Amino acid sequence: MNKSLDFHLGPPDDRLISLVVPVYNERVMLPLFFDRVLPVLAAVNLRHEIVFVDDGSEDGSAVYIRNEIKRTPGLRLVKLSRNFGKEAAVTAGLEHARGDAVIVLDADLQDPPEQIPAMIESWQSGADVVLMQRRSRAGETAFKRWSAHLFYRLLNRTSRTDIPVDTGDFRLMSRKAVDAILTLNERNR
Ligand code: UDP
Ligand code: MG
Repeated sequence: MNKSLDFHLGPPDDRLISLVVPVYNERVMLPLFFDRVLPVLAAVNLRHEIVFVDDGSEDGSAVYIRNEIKRTPGLRLVKLSRNFGKEAAVTAGLEHARGDAVIVLDADLQDPPEQIPAMIESWQSGADVVLMQRRSRAGETAFKRWSAHLFYRLLNRTSRTDIPVDTGDFRLMSRKAVDAILTLNERNR
C-alpha cells in the first residue's frame, strides 16, 4: 500500500549536520542558546551534532556545556587551553566536526537559528556554501554597524572572491567546502 509513497520519498537522508559554535564567556547566553537552537534542530529531519568550542572562557561556559552534554545527546565540547580568538576557535570546530554539512553559528544568538532549515534545504539542493546576509543590524551600536560595514567593504576591495556585504559568520558549508578550507589553512601554517 505504501510502496508508491516510499518511491516518491526516496531513501531517507541519513547524512549528519554539524553545528560549530565558538564560545568565549557566553555563560549568560548559553541557556537561551539551547532554548532557541535545540527545537530548531529537533524539527529538522536529519541527524545532527553540536560542536562547541570553548575558547578559553573564564566565566564557567565550559562547565555549563559539560552539564548540558550529560542531558542532551549529540553535544560535544572542544576546549582550547586559552583564548585564541574566534577564527581559531571556528577552525578547531571545523577540524572536529564530522558532519556532511557544517553550519557555523555564534553563541550570542545574533543570527537567527530559525534560518537553519532553509540553509539545509539549499545544501540538499546542491549548494556547497550558503552565506546568510543580515538584513538589518538591529540591536548593534552605530559604531559596530559602521565598523562592520567598513570591514566588508574593505574585504571586498582586497579579496578576489566577492563576499556579500554584511555577511556574518553564519554559514553552511558542505563537507567538500570544509575540507578545502582546512587544507588551505594548513598550507598557510
Ligand atoms: N568568540 C570566541 N573567541 C573570541 C571572541 C568571540 O570564540 O575571542 C565567540 C563568541 O562567543 C561568539 C562569536 O565568537 O559566539 C562571535 O563573537 P562576538 O559576538 O564577540 O563577535 P561579533 O558579533 O562582533 O562577530
Ligand atoms: Mg556577536
